[in-house]
Amino acid sequence: MPSPVRYREGLREEVLAANLALVRHNLVTLTWGNASGIDREAGLIAIKASGVAYDTMGIDDIVVLTLNGEIVEGERRPSTDTPTHLELYRSFSEIGGVIHTHSTWATSWAQAEREIPILGTTHADFFPGPVPLSRHLTAEEVANAYELNTGVALKEVIDEHGIEDLPAALVPGHGPFTWGKDANQALERAVTLEAIAHMAFLSVALRPDIQPLASVIVDRHFTRKHGPGAYYGQGD
Ligand SMILES: [Zn+2]
Repeated sequence: MPSPVRYREGLREEVLAANLALVRHNLVTLTWGNASGIDREAGLIAIKASGVAYDTMGIDDIVVLTLNGEIVEGERRPSTDTPTHLELYRSFSEIGGVIHTHSTWATSWAQAEREIPILGTTHADFFPGPVPLSRHLTAEEVANAYELNTGVALKEVIDEHGIEDLPAALVPGHGPFTWGKDANQALERAVTLEAIAHMAFLSVALRPDIQPLASVIVDRHFTRKHGPGAYYGQGD
């Protein structure tokens, strides 16, 4: 009998919970979404299987793979977006969880190929600038290893802004990706991103000539939650 695969206890359960939470937060329609998490010490990630209905999803629908995409546990095929997740994990050791959805509001900005402008303090607490778009892929990048190249383009936009600050990006014509120290933080950010995207849309509709939030307020809000001077919350 093969020896059992070793990874952090609770990894698959955390990833299952994050996937199910996407439904609770109204971020997925049908099966269009996926959450993953990693055990860095074991070098293994857990991700949702491809095309599984959320209402019957169980622990057996969470597949465990190496960072090179080799399946080590689970009978099912992993999400088709797995190569994008793997590229993000390989590129940034800070990333412990990744989420991709086609949530309506964030995806609408992605489809319009517009960055989400920074218009209020909810956004400033999240990221101190417009939520960026990754670049377009070339025809060749789409034809060969499309999902991997989506990850490569996301890596480029993260490098531009810094992994410490940037929590999310939009893939043009497609939808949002968020990441975090674990699947749960990636989930929190997916929920926040959707709220910001919704509010930004309504704000622009109410006032088409709206200007970005004043930078002095942006800085104040972002730095009270992030970085060495942070004082928001309980300092955990
Ligand atoms: Zn997608």
